[in-house]
Amino acid sequence: MAIELPCSGCGQTLRVRDEDAGRQARCPQCGAVTSVPLGGPSYSANADPNDIPLAPGEPPNPYASPPMFHGEVMAPRSSYTAPHRGTTILILGILSVTCCLICGPFAWIMGSQDMKSIREGRMDPAGKTQTQVGMILGIIGTLLGGCSIILQIILAVANQ
Ligand SMILES: [Zn+2]
Repeated sequence: MAIELPCSGCGQTLRVRDEDAGRQARCPQCGAVTSVPLGGPSYSANADPNDIPLAPGEPPNPYASPPMFHGEVMAPRSSYTAPHRGTTILILGILSVTCCLICGPFAWIMGSQDMKSIREGRMDPAGKTQTQVGMILGIIGTLLGGCSIILQIILAVANQ
């Protein structure tokens, strides 16, 4: 069984195998790449010209761009945004106020950078809350760390 379709470029009738439905094929005459509709044998040459044909006689696989159905692209909109680091920043922030004050500045700096990226649409906004909380904890941890250092200096001076 075969699917017959008009080439989108030159109009020549292209014949493809049923199992190539939903894939793409290149016309051997004009080189136009067209996508084969998921029509099956009932598909006729009179169909919508936007649904395109396969190259006759050519092995369809080389042209088959795997999962491409009706213009739906594999890469979603988020493909150009960086993954968020919300979990990392949150952990650093929590550590900074509990046991590891040195983490504070890192959570603060990373958090402020990532919040900027999220606002500008360059980073996955799903981590906004984690990033924000982690950054705030990082600020608190940094201030606590600073205070404790100052306090130790004062105590050291006072004990002299
Ligand atoms: Zn053609």
